[in-house]
Amino acid sequence: MTDLIRSWVDSANSSETDFPLNNLPYGVFVAADGTPRCGTAIGDFVLDLAALEKAALLDFGGTLGRAGWNAFMALGSAEWMRLRQSLTEMLLEGAGTQAVVEPYLVPREGLRLLMPFDVSEYTDFYAGKHHAMNVGTMFRGPENALPPNWLHLPIGYNGRASSVVVSGTDVIRPHGQLKGPNDDAPRFGPSQRFDIELEMGAIVGQPSTGPISVAEAFDNIFGYVLLNDWSARDIQAWEYQPLGPFQAKATATTISPWIVTAAAMEPFRTTTPAREKPLLDYLVEPGPMLYDIALEVGLAPAGGTETIISRTNYKEMYYSSAQQLAHHTTSGCPMRVGDLLGSGTISGPERGNRGSLLELSWGGKEPLTLAGGETRSFIEDGDTLTLRGHAQGDGYRVGFGECKGTLLPARG
Ligand code: CA
Repeated sequence: MTDLIRSWVDSANSSETDFPLNNLPYGVFVAADGTPRCGTAIGDFVLDLAALEKAALLDFGGTLGRAGWNAFMALGSAEWMRLRQSLTEMLLEGAGTQAVVEPYLVPREGLRLLMPFDVSEYTDFYAGKHHAMNVGTMFRGPENALPPNWLHLPIGYNGRASSVVVSGTDVIRPHGQLKGPNDDAPRFGPSQRFDIELEMGAIVGQPSTGPISVAEAFDNIFGYVLLNDWSARDIQAWEYQPLGPFQAKATATTISPWIVTAAAMEPFRTTTPAREKPLLDYLVEPGPMLYDIALEVGLAPAGGTETIISRTNYKEMYYSSAQQLAHHTTSGCPMRVGDLLGSGTISGPERGNRGSLLELSWGGKEPLTLAGGETRSFIEDGDTLTLRGHAQGDGYRVGFGECKGTLLPARG
């Protein structure tokens, strides 16, 4: 594991910050003049990369002045590495660059952050074994919990890119068709079992036009964000057969505003859990392609204090994003710059490690008690859900910031 890379930005050297010089995550912020542009978080600041490029202190073909990272991602991995090296040299303690670079720092507090990239397409997977076992046990019993294909391929469905929003965006409780097991006919009304799914999102930074290997897929992933796949369980239960989730997952998917690059995550690579059945050759990982990222979920009722309702780790995933991406291309499916892949819900082995309220409350049978004494089976109007995550280094962390959303009452 590498050590903290010290910066002349003092707040970046704190063991508590998500954004030391080791991280350099990429986001889009609204500058004082009202224009959106690319920036990187460093300690308590954002470095204005668009202004640095305008001042000819960086040169990436004007891509850093865009309101998204797609154009930069399209430049390819040599340019990804060159920017990371340039920024490291600019912000390094003792580099003699402070006087030139410091005017381009903007305080991070209160800064408005936008979607960090244009989501070309969005695919969501079902690749966490503890989650699949929990959900399968609830719906089909422990004997048939895992579908027969589960240990052989990462199950996924094509989601809606248009529904992906950045942290801080409110989410409106959806209406839909609801039919309980004892109802004769469906009715139309607000979802009563609205939920979260704690996931990581992988962002494809290079296009592909045919099948690619797991190793090629790993190299094509630019970076990662936290991802909350808001899910209406009651709508899903009635609509999902035989083609999978549709409206239950189309209300909103929230992502964190900072893309943490694969380069920053490099020291934290780890292998997927032991295989229970051998995989077909095309899905075998040639090396460790998962990451050790500690994750948590906080729930705060309107006006109340937050309770951490789940703690887990990304390394619990049975399939890595690289395996998912490789599998996605087996059909010849073209992938674009800005394709977003949801990992699937990340649960761990214990009750406190479950990544959805469906699992935490065991389908509503075992409601959670919050710090203020309230109970929850599913999300109530006014609740704010916040995902957080970081990889822990020796005396520093590489963090993702927050992925937050508040549920507003259904309209009408
Ligand atoms: Ca999901």
